[in-house]
Amino acid sequence: MIKKWFEIITDHRISLRERMFRIVTGVCMIAITFTLPMGRSIWNILILLLSLTAMTVIVKYSIRQKRIHLGATLIAMLLLILFPITFFSAGGFYSGVPEWFVLCFIYVCITLQGRRRVVFFGLCTAETMLCYGTAFYFPALAAPSSQHDALFDSAFSMIMVGLLTSILLMFLNKMYEEENALSQRQKKEIEELNRAENHFFSSMSHEIRTPINTIIGLNEIILREHISEEVAENARNIQGASKLLLSLINDILDISKIKSGKMEIVNVSYETGALFSEIVNMIWIKAKEKDLEFKLHVDPSIPSMLCGDEVRIKQVLINLLNNAVKYTSAGSVSLSVRCERLGVNRVRVWYSVEDTGQGVKKENIPYIFNAFRRVDEGRNRYIEGTGLGLSIVHQLVELMGGEISVNSVYTKGSTFIVSLEQDIVDEKELGTFTLASRSRVHEGETYRQSFEAPDAHILVVDDNDMNLMVVKKLLAETKIQIDTASSGAECLRLTQNHHYDCILMDHLMPEMDGIECLHALRVQPAGLCQVVPVVALTANAGSDNQLLYRREGFSGYLAKPVSGALLEAAV
Ligand code: ADP
Repeated sequence: MIKKWFEIITDHRISLRERMFRIVTGVCMIAITFTLPMGRSIWNILILLLSLTAMTVIVKYSIRQKRIHLGATLIAMLLLILFPITFFSAGGFYSGVPEWFVLCFIYVCITLQGRRRVVFFGLCTAETMLCYGTAFYFPALAAPSSQHDALFDSAFSMIMVGLLTSILLMFLNKMYEEENALSQRQKKEIEELNRAENHFFSSMSHEIRTPINTIIGLNEIILREHISEEVAENARNIQGASKLLLSLINDILDISKIKSGKMEIVNVSYETGALFSEIVNMIWIKAKEKDLEFKLHVDPSIPSMLCGDEVRIKQVLINLLNNAVKYTSAGSVSLSVRCERLGVNRVRVWYSVEDTGQGVKKENIPYIFNAFRRVDEGRNRYIEGTGLGLSIVHQLVELMGGEISVNSVYTKGSTFIVSLEQDIVDEKELGTFTLASRSRVHEGETYRQSFEAPDAHILVVDDNDMNLMVVKKLLAETKIQIDTASSGAECLRLTQNHHYDCILMDHLMPEMDGIECLHALRVQPAGLCQVVPVVALTANAGSDNQLLYRREGFSGYLAKPVSGALLEAAV
């Protein structure tokens, strides 16, 4: 039985309260059992036996019924009744009973909670004072025993209470240590789990990006060919769908990064015209598909080059514009950009995305920026969405030090306004930027390689054959001579005998990864590419990677899926 009791009080699946209750009540029952032989009269012994039986019943009942607090209260009441009786029958303060009052205080302190604990503390104190007072003023009630008995009782009780209290403290200490060790273990497990989750998200993103790279790359090759309008339309649709899939993966990756505090803002110089062109190119076609009018108003005085996190600004605006198109069935979607001078070198840019769609109910507005929260579910059931977009937008705008606000009238439309402060890189004004001028450029646009370099010789290192093929095809028009290596070891074999003008290196490869390979390349004995520029070309996405690869010694960084234009620019 004692073994079982031990097992129970060390079993973490049982609540801490129940285990404390078992320990303290067990100690009290042991104390009463030890006092039995000390009973001065048969009545005394009978009362102690009765109390023990009552305690056993209460303990069993309260544990079975899971009413631990009630059980503890009943036992505290029993002790409050038992101790005065034994006090007066055993000889008042010339007996060993006063020490047991201490046990009653300890019992109340450990097993009761809240108001009940306060009340019982009061009762214990009142009872102790009452017993002592009565024994003082009516000494006859506390029939004194012989000095020999009194000394013996007192010493015995002192040792018993001392021992039992120490055992109790030892138990509680052990329990505390075990609970502490358990919570430390759990904390480590949670950290491990978080790490595993982040690792899962980034490797999932990496794994999905690799085939998307092939789809987008080969699709670009198809679009470069002289093909019928129907095939071109299909290829453009494939391009749109692949990009959507990519944005979904990016959303999940971003949320996990923001959650773990790893999202970094990378400010770079960018051309405002190029940024708006790219955004508009992605959105106007979607608006057209839904027969919505797309309106664009760009302040001509906006500087042609600014410094900001171009990637994240684009992400924010595309997200808002996608939503505007998604939640609008008739009318228009518009993007307005306005700029306000703040100082010599600084501007505040206001981006406003307005639609004539379904709007958001006033009571739902506070929730639309919450992750995984979609509002007005009944109406939105058939509209694709995860509820992640606006949460990411909100957190990105905050990370960039900007502000976002929303005005919405249910059934009439919404306006999302983002303001961001940025440094001016080139004062030259952007000038007139309209949809008409932009789409003329777009329509006339056919692929033309940006350079030809038949004498150049480059090496592409990637463990995935498809990726190697995509790079070769995307660079084919430049006439560069391209060698490929499918591992770090093969790369080092080739660089032993050939000089290359540039190396494009994948990061995650089995056995030797791209970073290890680069380091080996730099110190390769008699190697011919020790100082050649090496550009990371990886599906390991993330804005902070730019920093990582630079620190490791790469000359540049390209994220897969990569377009022909970007590849040519890097080479
Ligand atoms: P979702 O993937 O559901 O679009 P978001 O985080 O982008 O997730 O948006 C959250 C919710 O805010 C949406 O479910 C939608 O109800 C509402 N919402 C967002 N943008 C608009 C808009 N332009 N018009 C109406 N409702 C919108």
